[in-house]
Amino acid sequence: MSTTPAVRGHRPIALTATGGIDRAAHHRLDEAWLAAAWSHPTTRCFVVSGGQALVEDTGDGRAELVTMPSFDAPLTEAHRYFLGIDEEGVRYFALQKDALPGRLDDAARPAGLREAGALLSERDAQLLVHAVALENWQRMHRFCSRCGKRTVIAAAGHIRRCPACGGEHYPRTDPAVIMLVTAPDGRVLLGRQVHWPKGRFSTLAGFVEPGESIEQAVVREAGEEAGVVIERVEYVASQPWPFPSSLMLGFVAHAASTEIRVDGEEIEEARWFSRAELRAAFASGEVLPPSGVSIAARLIELWYGEPLPVR
Ligand SMILES: [Zn+2]
Repeated sequence: MSTTPAVRGHRPIALTATGGIDRAAHHRLDEAWLAAAWSHPTTRCFVVSGGQALVEDTGDGRAELVTMPSFDAPLTEAHRYFLGIDEEGVRYFALQKDALPGRLDDAARPAGLREAGALLSERDAQLLVHAVALENWQRMHRFCSRCGKRTVIAAAGHIRRCPACGGEHYPRTDPAVIMLVTAPDGRVLLGRQVHWPKGRFSTLAGFVEPGESIEQAVVREAGEEAGVVIERVEYVASQPWPFPSSLMLGFVAHAASTEIRVDGEEIEEARWFSRAELRAAFASGEVLPPSGVSIAARLIELWYGEPLPVR
């Protein structure tokens, strides 16, 4: 049974399924339980390093996370994250290391969520997105934001504590909005960021600012980036996006008119597309569809009515 949120009957959104993993957060502070779980013979673990883990192609166009029993794991006491328990009672840990382990066979290859996120099973994608999000947070929060002293890992990777001032720091997630702007005539607005490769167009997006609601952020970002006036916003779905620590909140934003004025700084060009125009632009190669793993592709599909062509 799939637990992935689908966008109103369309394809599921990558990285959002629970994959049958119970995070079992109540065990994170129980050192005795964690030690027993770690040494249990059925426990599986994998190394996460720089946002990547080893994956293996399964021969049917899909891939699986390469996991190992804990007794085969490289030594790392300090950076062991407890990720949860699957439906068969298997406990999963990720080990944060400075490099991925070597393998005797050539079948395994390093991959990050962008490449492998849509190829992995829901379980493996969930394990990897949790591990990568924790790794990114751990690497960037080694010092206490209250007193500046070095912090130490706790709660199986889910807390950092400051021995100097007693501060406790929790993993942070930065909310960002991503919106498909639609015109009164049914067309959609796609923009090109300045640093994107030629031909790449996608939805508008931006970070939620302090003191702002996510609806306000949609209206502000659409105004800043493309000069469009939004009269109504509709929440669709969210997607964890740990690059390094975002949560993408997906919307359809209804514009009051088709007038646009791009900012030229973040967005270089923005264009309205009808379905026929977008289909023709995909076919001629003038427009490249967004990557399949991103919620941007699902938001566009929601309007487009069929899967986007694969890049
Ligand atoms: Zn401190």
